[in-house]
Amino acid sequence: MNESMMKLLKNKKLFIFDLDGTLYLDGVLFPKTIELLQHIKENHGKYVFLTNNSSRSSNDYVKKIQKLGIPCDLSNVATSTQATIHYLKSNHLNDLFYVVGTNSMITEMNEAGILTTDEYKPEIDGVILGYDTELDYKKIEIATRLITEGKTYIASHPDLVCPVGFGFVPDCGAFAKMFEYATKRTPLIIGKPKRLIVDLILERTNFLPAESVLVGDRLYTDIACGQNAGIDTILVLSGETNLEDLKEVLEQPTYVLENVAALYEVLKREERGDYE
Ligand SMILES: [Mg+2]
Repeated sequence: MNESMMKLLKNKKLFIFDLDGTLYLDGVLFPKTIELLQHIKENHGKYVFLTNNSSRSSNDYVKKIQKLGIPCDLSNVATSTQATIHYLKSNHLNDLFYVVGTNSMITEMNEAGILTTDEYKPEIDGVILGYDTELDYKKIEIATRLITEGKTYIASHPDLVCPVGFGFVPDCGAFAKMFEYATKRTPLIIGKPKRLIVDLILERTNFLPAESVLVGDRLYTDIACGQNAGIDTILVLSGETNLEDLKEVLEQPTYVLENVAALYEVLKREERGDYE
């Protein structure tokens, strides 16, 4: 076991985790996940779950994670919807938006004070594109019209696909491709790999970048996000990425581990002072 890795992790207080492919797959937790999170809470500081998935509200995520047996409240959850809301409040206060998103996403935005409408109006200022699992053709047509008219165009995240039991389904990034064919426009992206969502977590938790580490399974969203935000990263090979993929990227993660069970092992050994 790498001694420098144990020393580096010893001083980490904030552990930011991707969910799918990192902590679970198909809703089933990977071994040692609960033990790892408990260890972090008792010996380091805080864990936060970071997801690009904007189809569920933050409250829905808290419930989903609690159901898996993980202690979790709103302070442990960061979503691309939260980051989008933060961006809109900083840059588009009082603007009116048409949202291609689930009712759950729209409700969270409205509760945060973002003005939305569910029909076409000339005075609409922009379109927000999320992972809309309730998408229908009327929404596609209205959004296309607004994007064509040159309105502000923002996407909560760039993921092309979302993993499901049988393989993948089209995600927000794939919807953006569809609109691009019709309008020749691409959206401003908010979620991973952009740094905003990590900046928000650091601001909320009061930890420094040097005290933080991001753990995820995707190079081009999770690891790139940590790198963009200037924090250390751990790639786990339990999800989308294998060692072959790693050869193709210039910027390597700080560390690579098989899975979260291996991370738990490292942290336990560090605690025991079990350096080799
Ligand atoms: Mg993942």
